[in-house]
Amino acid sequence: MPTIKEELDRRRLLYSLLMPVMNLYVPGLERGKGLYFLFVKSETRTPGGLLARPVLTSYYKSDHFKTRPYDPYNVYTSPNEAILCPDSFQSMYAQMLCGLLQRQQVLRVGAVFASGLLRAIRFLQLNWPQLTQDIETGALNPKLTDPSLREYMDKILKPNPELAECVRHECSKDNWEGIIARIWQNTKYLDVIVTGAMAQYIPTLDYYSGGLPLACTMYASSECYFGLNLNPMCKPSQVSYTIMPNMAYFEFLPHEPDSFGFPRDSPPKLVDLVDVQVGKEYELVITTYAGLYRYRVGDILRVTGFHNSAPQFHFVRRKNVLLSIDSDKTDEAELQKAVENASRLLREFNISVVEYTSYADTRTIPGHYVIYWELLGKDSANSPTDEVLKQCCLAMEESLNSVYRQGRVADNSIGPLEIRVVKTGTFEELMDYAISRGASINQYKVPRCVNFTPIMELLDSRVVSSHFSPASPHWTPERRR
Ligand code: AMP
Repeated sequence: MPTIKEELDRRRLLYSLLMPVMNLYVPGLERGKGLYFLFVKSETRTPGGLLARPVLTSYYKSDHFKTRPYDPYNVYTSPNEAILCPDSFQSMYAQMLCGLLQRQQVLRVGAVFASGLLRAIRFLQLNWPQLTQDIETGALNPKLTDPSLREYMDKILKPNPELAECVRHECSKDNWEGIIARIWQNTKYLDVIVTGAMAQYIPTLDYYSGGLPLACTMYASSECYFGLNLNPMCKPSQVSYTIMPNMAYFEFLPHEPDSFGFPRDSPPKLVDLVDVQVGKEYELVITTYAGLYRYRVGDILRVTGFHNSAPQFHFVRRKNVLLSIDSDKTDEAELQKAVENASRLLREFNISVVEYTSYADTRTIPGHYVIYWELLGKDSANSPTDEVLKQCCLAMEESLNSVYRQGRVADNSIGPLEIRVVKTGTFEELMDYAISRGASINQYKVPRCVNFTPIMELLDSRVVSSHFSPASPHWTPERRR
């Protein structure tokens, strides 16, 4: 995505509105701190020599963030040294340790996306013995080697056996229900985006937080920041975002979900921001200061009402995204290609993949992609071994896009891909089920992604074997294909 320096001012403007809005609903936030897990990712250069990096990495590395003036409403427990540390383990460790040391001051806990916050909880599950030891002794884990991070931590870390015991007491229990509220007792809400694809994490967040309110404060993308939620303490299902008209030039393509893709007589007309109608769905089209012209973001929004004369939108879904665990987005074509590439490994066994579907399994942390395969073997004596199917998992991962592979390799935000082989005839049963619920037999298409419980139960009850990717796919910051 092209971007320009002044875009940072627009982003800061949107960020600067979040706390004044929140203050209307949750007073007193200036008397404490926010425990936010924020990370930078690696950067690279384009063939033409331009710097390329994720939008939030640009923001955290900018002076707008690094030298921000003191604002009592925006004090974080994480120091810049930890946020900017490129090593994800050291960064997370230091941010968690700082959060524990200042646990009484923490009034809100958050991350950009829900998946990031759950990763932090998982990190605590794995690392609390060492973290509590550091707190008890006042000596920092030797695995933290980043010089500026060590220097900062050495200044604030003092032996505190009482705090160590308190954290140990909570973390050593088998039951982690409500752990966030138990450790950070003054937390008033979780600040994470759980609209759209991230809604899959709501039950897990509720479990670990003991049901704290979830605030979805803003709606943004790499291309452009869009707007904010003026009623941030509402339920996630009720969230509407108010688009800020000064962020870009916004237009809307009417979206008709029932048109079956039939060609129209004339191309659809774009609607301006002022002309959208309540209840209708639109695809967002932006023209940005940085140079995107009538660019289709790929998001479908429904108009829910107006704030004064600014329309407000419910995020309906993203077009063409089947699977998403973290910031990865895998569409149908990519999944199809990955299945094709992996199924080549089965040719020597005279076996083909006759049907497949997929599921983003977020019951574990990190979540992972599950691909259901129904196989057809021409020669029943010659079936693929576990080893071959594991290699198929890896071949699929190698075919997926670089954001997926980065999540697997560098961020550990996505677990190994799993193939579940189902019995012959399973996909026919799936069709029978859909038809029994009213699907048209003529127009039935195998869903390439599933998440409806009865369908998942049907598929899982027909699984004959399950196989996980045995290694990480290739990914380096330089190889961004
Ligand atoms: P990226 O450019 O990778 O950061 O992804 C931007 C996309 O993430 C948007 O176009 C949306 O599809 C999704 N997204 C961002 N913010 C929200 C939000 N508040 N609710 C739902 N989806 C969101």
